[in-house]
Amino acid sequence: MSAITTTAIDIAKIRAQFPVLDQEVNGKPLIYFDNAATSQTAKNVVDALVEFYEKDHANIHRGIHTLAERSTKAFEATRERVHRFINSEEADEIIFTKGTTESINLVAQSWGSKFLKKGDEILISQLEHHSNIVPWQLAAERTGAIIKVIPINAKGEILMDEYKRLLSAKTKVVAVNYVSNSLGTINPIKEIIDLAIAHGATTMIDAAQAAPHVKLDVQELNCDFLALSSHKMYGPTGVGILYGRRDILEATPPYQGGGEMIKDVSFSGTTFNDIPYKFEAGTPNIGEVIAFKYAMDFIDDIGHENIQAYENELLEYAMDKLQQIPGFTPIGTADNKASVISFLMQNVHPYDLGQLLDVKGIAVRTGHHCTQPLMDFLKIDGTVRASFAVYNTKEEIDIFCDALQKIVERFK
Ligand code: PMP
Repeated sequence: MSAITTTAIDIAKIRAQFPVLDQEVNGKPLIYFDNAATSQTAKNVVDALVEFYEKDHANIHRGIHTLAERSTKAFEATRERVHRFINSEEADEIIFTKGTTESINLVAQSWGSKFLKKGDEILISQLEHHSNIVPWQLAAERTGAIIKVIPINAKGEILMDEYKRLLSAKTKVVAVNYVSNSLGTINPIKEIIDLAIAHGATTMIDAAQAAPHVKLDVQELNCDFLALSSHKMYGPTGVGILYGRRDILEATPPYQGGGEMIKDVSFSGTTFNDIPYKFEAGTPNIGEVIAFKYAMDFIDDIGHENIQAYENELLEYAMDKLQQIPGFTPIGTADNKASVISFLMQNVHPYDLGQLLDVKGIAVRTGHHCTQPLMDFLKIDGTVRASFAVYNTKEEIDIFCDALQKIVERFK
């Protein structure tokens, strides 16, 4: 148990960073519990974005004028910041993408086209987001590789014995999420990676949900690839990264062709740039990449340990209260969970519940959460999902539970 308590979190100071929270929705104070879909953007991030567009807007890497130098320097400063945030060996191992989805597509397409062949096996889990399923299906179609699915138990935990059984010399890649967006399960990722390595498989870690909650250290994890999205980390939309170890990135062919990713172009042939630029064709989301640095500063200023301790407190507090509401059924009860609560309410359809909560100013997610195969396994169409961030409070949870209680009474 961590010794850290809520005293380590200055909630007033944190909330001051999110003016968006200080508003009414449908005449009620906004309660934002849809953080697993996207978190709100910290003020220092928004300020950096405005500053870029008001003062420094220029394209990167290609200009010698002052503004181009400024924007290039700030852009590369974010690469350095990500390198420190996830403890990669080098900053060059960080590739900017639009987000986790694009990062996984890059790996499935580019790495997959060279390294997957007929009969090879791709292992993914039953818990995956569509963006860690469909790119692999496309890769399998192109290459003749086969997808195998690691089963889970009813609590939403990966069955490690089944995983071990599935691993073989045929396993070419293991692609799993660190934290499930639908259920909040925190997977035993280090063990999953170690076992994959022992079988000579490449590893692709979807850390979209892990990044805001869990300290990431790619050298300690020893993964080959890892993807995350800025917008789930209090940063801007349209930015994410793919981490890849230098040797594997160098061996991987380019993803898209265009400017920036080349050394020399002629009609008789083209030579490609070094990593990371080889994978960064065209003009990226420059301002958003620059602002993303401040999101990582925001997280590190609070500290992952403090964030996790506080969010765990919120999770436990909410679960205690929710269990007392008649008809509440949690979906996903893994022993090791992030601050995500998926649930069903007897007699109330998730969609209706989502709408009725919105009337009370409470934002939750309803539906399959881009995990249809997981919903099929659970034999449900979808859930209601409340997911907490570091700016949420117990008072908000009280209001949420009161609202649920009243809705349930109406539907009795
Ligand atoms: N994987 C997981 C586990 C996610 O939660 C999400 C976003 N819901 C994604 C991948 C896709 O991320 P993005 O939409 O930012 O590309």
